[in-house]
Amino acid sequence: MANGKNALVTGSTSGIGLGIAKALAQAGYNVMFNGLVRNDEERNAAEKVAQDVAKEYGVKTLFNPANMMKGEEIRAMIAQAEQTWGSVDVLVNNAGIQFVSPIEDFPEDKWDAIIAINLTAAFHTSKAVWKGMKARGWGRIINITSAHALQASEFKSAYVASKHGVTGLTKTLALEGATCGITCNAICPGYVLTPLVEGQIPDQMKAHNMSREEVIQKVMLYKHAIKDFVTVEQIGALVVFLASDAAKLITGVSIPVDGGWSAQ
Ligand code: NAD
Repeated sequence: MANGKNALVTGSTSGIGLGIAKALAQAGYNVMFNGLVRNDEERNAAEKVAQDVAKEYGVKTLFNPANMMKGEEIRAMIAQAEQTWGSVDVLVNNAGIQFVSPIEDFPEDKWDAIIAINLTAAFHTSKAVWKGMKARGWGRIINITSAHALQASEFKSAYVASKHGVTGLTKTLALEGATCGITCNAICPGYVLTPLVEGQIPDQMKAHNMSREEVIQKVMLYKHAIKDFVTVEQIGALVVFLASDAAKLITGVSIPVDGGWSAQ
């Protein structure tokens, strides 16, 4: 049943973002969906995802295709949510991309895109929702970073740098929001089997000269003490908790959900 609060989840047409959007809808939040669409077919599919969630959970949903590389489109998306529903109470910065390559071959355009989507977009979204959250004295900003926001792995220079950057942004916004009811935290997943991770498997097979199963067990889950992929439902449940009043005093932290990776 609707709880009167509105959430925006970037990159919610797929993977972790979709899992978070569903968990928030189930908890009663209206949800604005976002994701990159390249043509009408993809746009229709994204609109349908949002409509299906609205029907299933009895909340309102919208879809906005703002490109996270473009500040203007991000600001227009947040304005649409605020004009339609009156507020964005929960912002989840989830959209992200990855590229795997040794530094000497790392393409400059991939570096720029990863920093723009994974890091700079979270600045644009947070800045755009801030005024409204501050005026209402309540807000939740939840950044989906990564185990790579706390640790490094070879061949992921841009990704690791972008995610460490969001860790810094998270701490800073927690301090700035402390006097106006805004908390800001990060969730750091280990490996979740989403399209983003599926896409890395062929590159990792090439880089390590391994089979698919060897890459999963020896490269990806190698760093998990618990040898399972994290699920999108587990991340969604933590977002719902961080958005709740029970989490009012939790701010500025990065919470690993990584099967013990960061304990090592
Ligand atoms: P995914 O590829 O399944 O989904 C990514 C989403 O981001 C999609 O909805 C896509 O449309 C959107 N997106 C990509 N570029 C965009 C752009 N320019 N503008 C707007 N939307 C854009 O990825 P995922 O695995 O669900 O990852 C989601 C987040 O979780 C990312 O930030 C990722 O770094 C992080 N993460 C993932 C894992 C994992 O194992 N899958 C682990 C740790 C952290």
